[in-house]
Amino acid sequence: MDISQNLTYVKQEIKKTAGNAGRDPDEIKLVVVTKEKPANVVKEVLEAGVKSIGESYLQEAVFKMELLSDFGIEWHMIGHIQGSKANRVAALFDYIHSVDRLEIADQLNQAAQDLNRVLPVLLEFNLSGEPTKYGWRAKDEKDWERLAGDLETVMEMSNLEINGLMTMAPYYEDPEKARPIFRKLRKLRNFLRGRFEEHDLPELSMGMSGDYHVAIEEGATILRIGSAIVGSRT
Ligand SMILES: *Cc1c(COP(=O)(O)O)cnc(C)c1O
Repeated sequence: MDISQNLTYVKQEIKKTAGNAGRDPDEIKLVVVTKEKPANVVKEVLEAGVKSIGESYLQEAVFKMELLSDFGIEWHMIGHIQGSKANRVAALFDYIHSVDRLEIADQLNQAAQDLNRVLPVLLEFNLSGEPTKYGWRAKDEKDWERLAGDLETVMEMSNLEINGLMTMAPYYEDPEKARPIFRKLRKLRNFLRGRFEEHDLPELSMGMSGDYHVAIEEGATILRIGSAIVGSRT
């Protein structure tokens, strides 16, 4: 298990895949997901040159933040956020990928206001229709008009900087099957861009260890990669 070697490999793959797709690899950001891994693994990732770290659980992240406070880490919250934890999430994380419902958007916005900060966030969508996945449900394009109506309040929240969209594809043996999901996120982004002209929504956070090549081909600007770099979670 050599994190530095895995990272080198993944970075090469990103570069190659982006190049073949006619994209600039420098416009694709890599967030290394270290959930369920100890702090020394995060440290190894940092030493290998990545400062953007993704975590899913507040308690676990706080523990690592305290141990690694000197390293200038950019902490990304990628997991579902309970309402009771919105204040702490808003205070501790640099970037939030998982704004998945109106209620949490409102709580994070309030918290950010109290902290006197503007929080960079992404809106999470459920495009597969899987009941176990979080996010605004947007599988059926005929629902998008209504969805845009629901999102209007969120788009106007003054302490959230809404940078784009996030999704998680189902797990498939064949990553090619994730392509329609990623393509749909881009299409949804373009739709929302048309509806909210003051929001450019440049970021698409999509692609994990099993499907990041396809995500790059479909326009991902942020990849959230865990196991391919830090090993599988048991
Ligand atoms: C765990 C997780 C990842 C990383 O998954 P890997 O398959 O280990 O790369 C990415 N995004 C989210 C939201 C996750 O929960």
